[in-house]
Amino acid sequence: MSETTPAPTRSGRPRIEARAEASILHADLDSFYASVEQRDDPRLRGRPVIVGGGVVLAASYEAKALGVRTPMNGGAALRLCPHAIVVQPRMSAYAEASKAVFEVFRNTTPIVEGISIDEAFLDVSGLRRIAGEPIDIAHRLRAEVLEQVGLPISVGIARTKFLAKVASAVSKPDGLRLVPPDGELDFLHPLPVERLWGVGEVTARTLHDHGITRVGHLAELGEPVLRSILGPGAARHLFALSWARDPRRVETGRRRRSIGAQRALGRHLRPPDEIEAYLHGLTDRLGRRLRAADRVCRTVVLRMRFDDFTRATRSHTLPEATDHTETILRTARTLLATATPMIQERGLTLIGLALTNLEDADAVQLTLPFDPHATNTLDSTLDNLRQRFGSTAVTRAALINRGEGISVPLLPD
Ligand SMILES: [Mg+2]
Repeated sequence: MSETTPAPTRSGRPRIEARAEASILHADLDSFYASVEQRDDPRLRGRPVIVGGGVVLAASYEAKALGVRTPMNGGAALRLCPHAIVVQPRMSAYAEASKAVFEVFRNTTPIVEGISIDEAFLDVSGLRRIAGEPIDIAHRLRAEVLEQVGLPISVGIARTKFLAKVASAVSKPDGLRLVPPDGELDFLHPLPVERLWGVGEVTARTLHDHGITRVGHLAELGEPVLRSILGPGAARHLFALSWARDPRRVETGRRRRSIGAQRALGRHLRPPDEIEAYLHGLTDRLGRRLRAADRVCRTVVLRMRFDDFTRATRSHTLPEATDHTETILRTARTLLATATPMIQERGLTLIGLALTNLEDADAVQLTLPFDPHATNTLDSTLDNLRQRFGSTAVTRAALINRGEGISVPLLPD
């Protein structure tokens, strides 16, 4: 029996590592927002429920059974599921439920690595004497979440985070799945390739076109063949996963927790669209640095200096970490919009943007719809062009003739 102590990390969160025994739990609430709605309104129970109007934020299992997925356009969802009940999201109710669930997590084990509002990894190694086998702990955890918070939660148990995560997903809804160390390949190989972290729609289609539908096919094919189909990075990554090797590196040393860029504007009045164009430029630059460093951020900070040398910041923390330029830009523009009255009154002389709450991309990507070919196509295409032809090769239309700005010393973070 080996018991491991989690390595301390930059973020202060424990980083749970692979070990010899299956003692990592991945606990994940089922259709979280929709379950909270069904819990709070008995009329919604047993019925297809969609949370969110324009875009589906969550769907109950009754709606998922008819093909509703997140994120999906609301109109498309209703065509699939015309009798769905659409409810507006109640974020404060979800935040409260999340807090209560995490309290159950922390009462289960001191080592909890939160991944998002509704899921976490729990390390239960070393609890055998006081709390029993991991499987007993998982049974109890599910019962307590149901009893104390009223929500169904699925739990996967394995030796690595990757397998624990796949196990909880396979067990849904309201399930429990243990993957014993000597049964990992038996568990993994019959699964569809889509279960592998990193296989999104586009990669799945490419693999299907080559007759590869199961993880076992991919494993038997070997890395060189995969490389010719998917390229070296994805081949190495997916081949390792297909043999149950979790590729995430062990955390070593401290890395920086924020990155920033700013631009001095001089003292003459700038029209709002010009200020926004500078914000685009800063966002592009930081997004590139973020992705080049394999990091993701959760908090976007807008920094401003005014004509009278006073300063102000506005910040927003995203529900999930991202390295996606459009997401960062949308957040930055919202922050800028809220500061517009202040800017008009006091005159802006410097605009800066900082991305904070940085994490290693590979530590959190399990929760993202990660598909290097699909979701981030634009970002990675632009990054490649800039890498090959220099940073001015591609620029946003709004920045033509303005340049991306001069670098000035950063305001202290
Ligand atoms: Mg969930």
